Amino acid sequence: MFIKYIVVGALALTLLSSCSDDNSSNTTPSNTSPSPKVDQSLPSVEVTKNAIQVGKDYHSFANPESIKVTHLSLDLTVDFTKKVLVGTAQLDFERVDVNAQQLILDTRDLTIDGVTAKGKEINFDLASADSFLGAALTIDIPADVNSVLISYQTSPKASGVQWLTPEQTAGKKHPFLFTQAQAIHARSFIPLQDSPQVRMTYEATIRTPIELLAVMSASNEPDTPRDGVYQFSMPQPIPAYLIALAVGDLHFKPMGERTGVYSEKGILDAAAAEFADTESMLIATEKTFGPYSWERYDLLILPPSFPFGGMENPRLSFITPTVIAGDKSLVALIAHELAHSWSGNTVTNATWRDLWLNEGFTTYLTYRIMQMIYGDERFEMEAVLGRQDLQADIDSLPANDQIMAIDLRGRDPDDVFSNIPYEKGALFLRELEHKVGRENFDQFLLGYFEKFAFKSITTDQFVSYLDQTLLKDHSANLSKQRIEQWIFQPGIPDGAPVPKSDAFSVVDQARDDWLAGKIQANKIDSEKWVVHQWLYFLNNMPEKLSQEQLADLDKTFALTNSKNNEIAHSWLLISVNNWYQPAFNRLHDYLTSIGRNKLVKPLYKALSQTPDGKVMAQKAFAEAKPGYHPLTVKANEGFVQ
Ligand SMILES: [Zn+2]
Repeated sequence: MFIKYIVVGALALTLLSSCSDDNSSNTTPSNTSPSPKVDQSLPSVEVTKNAIQVGKDYHSFANPESIKVTHLSLDLTVDFTKKVLVGTAQLDFERVDVNAQQLILDTRDLTIDGVTAKGKEINFDLASADSFLGAALTIDIPADVNSVLISYQTSPKASGVQWLTPEQTAGKKHPFLFTQAQAIHARSFIPLQDSPQVRMTYEATIRTPIELLAVMSASNEPDTPRDGVYQFSMPQPIPAYLIALAVGDLHFKPMGERTGVYSEKGILDAAAAEFADTESMLIATEKTFGPYSWERYDLLILPPSFPFGGMENPRLSFITPTVIAGDKSLVALIAHELAHSWSGNTVTNATWRDLWLNEGFTTYLTYRIMQMIYGDERFEMEAVLGRQDLQADIDSLPANDQIMAIDLRGRDPDDVFSNIPYEKGALFLRELEHKVGRENFDQFLLGYFEKFAFKSITTDQFVSYLDQTLLKDHSANLSKQRIEQWIFQPGIPDGAPVPKSDAFSVVDQARDDWLAGKIQANKIDSEKWVVHQWLYFLNNMPEKLSQEQLADLDKTFALTNSKNNEIAHSWLLISVNNWYQPAFNRLHDYLTSIGRNKLVKPLYKALSQTPDGKVMAQKAFAEAKPGYHPLTVKANEGFVQ
């Protein structure tokens, strides 16, 4: 049976520590079945497992079981006028099957101009495109060949590349380009084996307009001369979804010995101040979870249209500017992206079904890092907020989508990022920690990260590793049945850990008193409240509030004008749900200046519930669309039709 542990308000909850993907459920409206009562006539563990060929990547055409790409060499020119990348990709490969004669790659919307090996043209075939997998590129490989050179160019509509005009940047003078490869968008700017189980090293030469700087998920030289030709090298093997490029009027500011920030000049100082604790996070994480494998850890702050909170591109995480709050209140995002350097980037999910191995471990580590740097109170508050986010998804997602090892066959992996792999994954690991003790669990994690370093693994490999290690050593406290319930079944197992925060008790009391009419808003003793308490205060309001109540809150706390993007989000959502018109100008500005999907999608969704709301949504969307990332457009266009 499923039991609710925390009474959650009727609002869709936001979360602080999000990532690549910003796990607010991206399930498109058409895909969402009505929320089931989760008493679950569940698919049994065996049925779920048998139906899926474990380890098979259903989201790639590539044939790494026959021929595996090991190294990529890019030479690309960035053409801002035509909005294309044009050049060559050299792929070095090894034959897993010695008789293999064809190399199969993933592409999407690429124009292939030719393929050569040892200087000679060789045959290739570009298949017709599948709607979300793209098109297979099959290359005939002569027996004595271990490397091919592909000449190609991208489409201006490449799903993984966003081209921004100067007006869409903070500086307004130069264009900007950034890529976002996760989950399966690397194939839209490079022909390659776009599967997380194929790891390759890479090098790149990127040619840009002379006044701009290119950076990549690779070795970056902060002092490199701006000459329009930039060289990169990534000596550790990484999956395709971690290849990333950005080009713009970028500047660098160091934060510590191994950490620094790249951004447009206007926000460089604010970003470096906001994220000043990154170096301490890096040191603390190394102490507990083993050495950092990637030399430097820098941040790239993108323009506001970046669709996610952050993306853990190795050596250079891509970060939304919406977390620069001025008080470090939203830096859990940095802890999250940094944590990926261990979980995800070092130990990677073999298929998108196994994403929870990546995001669940990362979310667990995020909480631990936040606790190490900012103490127990903040850790507890963030854990409660995360648990509420998870509950909101459990209450609204169909049963299959509540399973950590989710069946994604026939679906676009972008559509199914939710709090399940993130927060349910983290809660599962917290339960393991509670059952075996923190010290033992940390030892287990150290061993796990070491054992599978630079490998991509499946859920089943993890379960079997758990079987041989933690389960064997702590058989009195752990059971395989319970572990499989967490991983292969919907809902949250009865008796799961319940995060608690004393700092939220005072907020509950204040909200209750105010809602009961015992006090006016100006009598709420909120002077010392931190951002998390404000979010908890707002996110747990009842669905309906009166105009007087809303005006009382707004007049007292100036919520419509909140500079904190998360607080503003929660308030605007309340305003839409209660048709509080004084907030609507801000709402329009918010929707047209921020492209982070987690922040805008719930607002569009709420607006789409009424005819008048839909008109507002359509107006904002039409204005904002040219600056939104294709993923944000895709996730929201259903709400304005
Ligand atoms: Zn993440």
